[in-house]
Amino acid sequence: MEIPFNKPFLTGKETKYIEKAVLSQKICGDGNYTKLCHEFFENRYGFKKALLTTSCTDALEMAAILLNIQKGDEVIMPSYTFVSTANAFVLRGAKIIFIDSMKDHPNMDVNLLEDVITSRTKAIVPVHYSGMACDMDKIMSIANKHNLFVVEDAAQAIDACYKGKPLGSFGHMSTFSFHETKNIICGEGGMLVINDERFIERAEIIREKGTNRSQFYRGEVNKYGWMDIGSSFLPSDVIAAFLYAQLEKIEEIQSKRKIIWNKYYSDLKHLEDQGLIQLPKLPRDCSNNAHLFYMILKNVEERNHYLSHMRENGVNPVFHYLSLHRSPYYEDKHGSRELPESDRYTETLVRLPLFFSLQEDEIEYIISKTINFFKS
Ligand SMILES: *Cc1c(COP(=O)(O)O)cnc(C)c1O
Repeated sequence: MEIPFNKPFLTGKETKYIEKAVLSQKICGDGNYTKLCHEFFENRYGFKKALLTTSCTDALEMAAILLNIQKGDEVIMPSYTFVSTANAFVLRGAKIIFIDSMKDHPNMDVNLLEDVITSRTKAIVPVHYSGMACDMDKIMSIANKHNLFVVEDAAQAIDACYKGKPLGSFGHMSTFSFHETKNIICGEGGMLVINDERFIERAEIIREKGTNRSQFYRGEVNKYGWMDIGSSFLPSDVIAAFLYAQLEKIEEIQSKRKIIWNKYYSDLKHLEDQGLIQLPKLPRDCSNNAHLFYMILKNVEERNHYLSHMRENGVNPVFHYLSLHRSPYYEDKHGSRELPESDRYTETLVRLPLFFSLQEDEIEYIISKTINFFKS
């Protein structure tokens, strides 16, 4: 058996909608399918404003511009995250203050936040790892107390909730990814969500090369011009057509992923009960969007040993982030503050294959090879 880590799921409508977009003769950004996607997100999740972007990375870069991040500003985020979370702010001159993960979850430990807030702190960027929510009540109350902005990196968190409210709707703004490894995909794509109305008008301008073309097309102004800095952050309507085909099937995609996630959890639980591994712990008040299924092993040797055992058997689990405070680019900028939990997740976390078309017998096979490894 040969089981990859991920296989992109296609609903079958993608090419049909792409053809329609192409034949509509309006294939640049903000066409019909882009509008349908924006409406879908605003209606389903109650986001004030949804703006498709060419990636979550781009959405994060837009957020950094919108917050007027300047040289010397400090931005707080977990070290255990993807490079774009930090890079977007570094591009504007920010210093990144990395904080540690929790002992029982890769999400950042909000109890450490107030220790690192200074007069230069401008924003907090929580990352909802594996689509499981950070403690947003605590983060928003600390942010309000210190007058800070919050940008949720919700790249993995589509269709997940905290206290019954969708992730991405708590921060001043939030960012999502539709990269082919995420739950809902379009190859490369993303979205910036604006919850604080003050940012909407400028977000549209930054996304349209610094011009007020969006207002012009709505007939709100009679000519458009260069208003601000910006770039070309909007995707072609061909990409949005792909994405819309996926959104129509979101219920089916989510319920299939949850079935696979729950099967892994229940069949591997006895290994956790015997103290052999640690399974994902859903934080209080969170729903699970089954973005990824991870296990924490004892140490880096055992983790690497497990990965090669599985690969010898044709299964391709993978590790995840190399903590950013240890990265070649940021190590000396970070300084000597220790982040032991983040280091531990770097060394011991593995992700199992989880994708829509994963078959029952393949899941059984992965589970039995995993149990064999820990039993021997
Ligand atoms: C996937 C991911 C990103 C980047 O998304 P792109 O759409 O590939 O730019 C950023 N942050 C996190 C936490 C991610 O998982």
